[in-house]
Amino acid sequence: MKVGIVGSGMVGSAAAYAMGLRGVASEIVLVDLDPALAEAHALDIAHAMPFASGTAVTSGDYDRLRNAGVVIIAAGVAQRPGETRIDLLGRNATVFREVIAEIMRVCPDAILLIASNPVDIMTQIARTISGLPARRVIGSGTILDTARFRSLLGAHLNVSPRSVHAYVLGEHGDSQVLAWSCARVGSVPLAGFGAQVGAPITEAVQAEIDNKTRNAAYTIVKGKGSTYYGIGAGLARIVGAIRQDEHAVFTVSIVTENVEGVRDVALSVPRVVGRRGITAELFPDLDAQEHAALYRSASLLHGLLDSMTL
Ligand code: ADP
Repeated sequence: MKVGIVGSGMVGSAAAYAMGLRGVASEIVLVDLDPALAEAHALDIAHAMPFASGTAVTSGDYDRLRNAGVVIIAAGVAQRPGETRIDLLGRNATVFREVIAEIMRVCPDAILLIASNPVDIMTQIARTISGLPARRVIGSGTILDTARFRSLLGAHLNVSPRSVHAYVLGEHGDSQVLAWSCARVGSVPLAGFGAQVGAPITEAVQAEIDNKTRNAAYTIVKGKGSTYYGIGAGLARIVGAIRQDEHAVFTVSIVTENVEGVRDVALSVPRVVGRRGITAELFPDLDAQEHAALYRSASLLHGLLDSMTL
């Protein structure tokens, strides 16, 4: 399967590198407003392939994306000093209008995988501009927040994060909801597992894990300016599930008909991902507080979108 990446900056190139290492694509084509940047990343990543997989990694213009099965959109512009979030969103919506028109011209059958931030809003914009069914316009959403939550729980419990079944729902941002009440390890509810292995989930543990999950991006940005390896690996995992028609469950964002009574808003819940995009969505059992937090997250996103003119 050919995978296109539009916007070959840090996130786009990290996704290409992770996909190349995992061998989840036969071909990766990098596109960017700055063709020299796309070419440089493509060459650098191509030189890693003899150590990794048979993936062909190149760069070029939009015509090179013909027949791509998935196109990752990681294009975006940075916030200007003094610019509001809404103004930045407006400029990024303009970028998406250009980019999606080109993608729809050359590969209208591709699944769009949105990585640009704020990812839930950009996913909703991409869905509106492309006119594609919601199941084929997938935002990376909280896939990474879920990975962070699992990895922190795994470290506390001394168990592999892959055996932790816990999800972060809602916005990929400050209003995200850590779904503690339905978290399980193996088949054992979290609290019971913690007690059995002598690592109880106390209120203090819960507060620390919540804080570290929610603020991970701030810590990384403070240290090195931006985050890209984690999300690059998450995008590669999603592409792998699409390619293999895996029907794997990830917390990703699509425009959702009804979340806690809020209609047509893009945010994350666990969803089944395969060759046709999203084939099912799951609403975990939540306690009253989590329901209320998910409602607040959905309302906040809905309000943000309402304040923009597309
Ligand atoms: P991030 O850390 O989110 O990857 P970057 O600034 O490194 O941020 O990458 C964003 C990329 O998007 C840049 O390489 C930029 O050139 C690219 N880009 C911006 N606007 C467009 C556009 N209209 N078409 C294609 N690429 C674009």
